Amino acid sequence: MGFDVEKVRKDFPILSKTLEGGKKLVYLDSSATAQKPQCVIDAIVDFYRDKNSNIHRSAHALSMAATQAYEDARKTLCGFFGAPKDFTGVFTRGTTESLNLVAACYGAANLKEGDEILLTQMEHHANIVPWQMIALRTGARVRAANILPDGSLDLDDFKSKLSARTKIVSVAQASNVLGTVNPLGEISALVRKYSPAALSMDAAQSAPHYLANLGDFDCDFISVSGHKCYGPTGIGMLIGRTELLDAMPPYQGGGDMIDSVSWEGTTFRPSPERFEAGTPNIAGAVGFARAAQYMESLDKNGARAHEEELLEFTTAELSKIDGVKIFGRAKGKLAIISFAAEGVHPHDISSLLNAGGIGIRTGHHCAEPLMKTLGVPSTCRASFTFYNTLEEAAYFVERLKHALSILR
Ligand code: PMP
Repeated sequence: MGFDVEKVRKDFPILSKTLEGGKKLVYLDSSATAQKPQCVIDAIVDFYRDKNSNIHRSAHALSMAATQAYEDARKTLCGFFGAPKDFTGVFTRGTTESLNLVAACYGAANLKEGDEILLTQMEHHANIVPWQMIALRTGARVRAANILPDGSLDLDDFKSKLSARTKIVSVAQASNVLGTVNPLGEISALVRKYSPAALSMDAAQSAPHYLANLGDFDCDFISVSGHKCYGPTGIGMLIGRTELLDAMPPYQGGGDMIDSVSWEGTTFRPSPERFEAGTPNIAGAVGFARAAQYMESLDKNGARAHEEELLEFTTAELSKIDGVKIFGRAKGKLAIISFAAEGVHPHDISSLLNAGGIGIRTGHHCAEPLMKTLGVPSTCRASFTFYNTLEEAAYFVERLKHALSILR
């Protein structure tokens, strides 16, 4: 038997929700944020009901229970993302904060005038703007490797932009617009061979599809978001090489991250604490770890095969519609389908689909430089994950045709 999508759907209460007017919800926006299984919702509620206390600071029973839950969550997540022993997981608010942390702290310690930061044309603003900010402060220069017409990374161009000047390379493992999955193995081999750069990976989009595993490639930092991995919002992780993290100056000061404080100055604790100033999102960490355990409990090969089937079906159907263009057709891509229809504004398509209960995303998807490369101001994006069904995909295609018949 194949992947049992109906069984999996029962784990996500919101998926059986009926919208206003009795429409069934068809959620095709999981790349923006994924829905949450009941076990994650329960883990958060259970934490607040049974264990709520601040962590690390007291010897009382609840504080010890909360500390244990928080540290267990860290261990679970480091295990889930295949972190080797010499890596440390730092809790953050999400991928955005993780990337900002690497840019601000690694960048401050390692960049100087004339150095280069290499990105790609398909990056999300979260993996562009923090690098531009640190480049301005240090005099370093941001460069971007090109993409090919199918939306895959131009590895020759990438290689040609690596040199002794390249001090940081930061790449999305998967594009939130094109669905392209970048070949991290080849990328890291090139980075190690042709530059002294640290390699940072934005795994916001790849992690929810079981692709972000530090055991599979050689990189120095990976950034993930809980909410894209079926966990809560406001929590994420940066997993980095401990040696590099411990050599980076912290960027936020406060409680819990110090060794000692006096009027003469402050010394900092090693990672992860040096980067976790203040009271963290304890319940969020617990919920994120529960989401990782939930993902582990599924048949991951079955889930990936099911997503591929959704991608193949929807791509084939959209390709038959006159004037519809799909952006990103790289081999092995995720089930993220960005498209535009000639002469029709993406927002109008989205509004009409919404009238049928279908949620897709429109806009520049926080990837304005990529939109410029693609030559469009915005696209529609339908993103699928393992809890979507072929019936939903077929309904989406039917409603899209209907919308276009009205709008054209
Ligand atoms: N990188 C990519 C590729 C993304 O798709 C996103 C979220 N859309 C981010 C980074 C930022 O993630 P978050 O908003 O969870 O911090």
